[in-house]
Amino acid sequence: MRIIILGPPGSGKGTIAEKLAKELKLFHFSPGELLREEVQKQTTLGKEIKQYLDKGELVPNAFVTQLVKLELKNKKNFILDGFPRSLEQAKDIDDLKITIVFAMDVSETIVLKRLAQRRICATGEHTYHRTILPPKKKGICDYDGTKLIQRKDDKPSTIKERFKVYRKETIPVIQYFKRKKLLDIIDGTQDPETVYTTVKRILHT
Ligand code: AMP
Repeated sequence: MRIIILGPPGSGKGTIAEKLAKELKLFHFSPGELLREEVQKQTTLGKEIKQYLDKGELVPNAFVTQLVKLELKNKKNFILDGFPRSLEQAKDIDDLKITIVFAMDVSETIVLKRLAQRRICATGEHTYHRTILPPKKKGICDYDGTKLIQRKDDKPSTIKERFKVYRKETIPVIQYFKRKKLLDIIDGTQDPETVYTTVKRILHT
């Protein structure tokens, strides 16, 4: 199975992707996560990437597409979380034979409220919400025991910019997959468990 999950920042795509990948044994790839890791390492490349992330802008298409293609090499089953985010990226993976595309639908107002409460672990792999999806022990990741932190790009001004980029660049991608009859829109305002059940029902798994 080859799944794509799209949605604005804070729509819950990462949470759903993480769960699906675990249960269906799919390779999970989120370019955003890998880009943040590179920034953390403070490499020359990381410093360059940081400029885009801090502003909430997309990292150049050619670079991200190359990254995705490298990661997906020889992978039969995967879930792509947050890619493609522009029409150019979508067309560049036309050869990947995608099974289904989920687009999470959530308003900017809800996202702004949600992201103020979002925390990630130090490895960047696991995401929490202080009230809707809290860790078992306050401030500590359930999986790797690292301290939870807030993402730098989760401040209101950057969220607004990321939303703007989403509307301009990613909405056309959603329409593109709709025309290809691969699209399912998911109500992302529901709690994570309900969203997950809906996605699974659509997948017949
Ligand atoms: P995310 O973790 O998916 O919210 O992504 C965080 C940031 O990483 C985005 O705001 C972009 O700067 C960058 N990024 C993630 N995915 C892509 C992509 N497909 N194309 C370009 N930039 C991306």
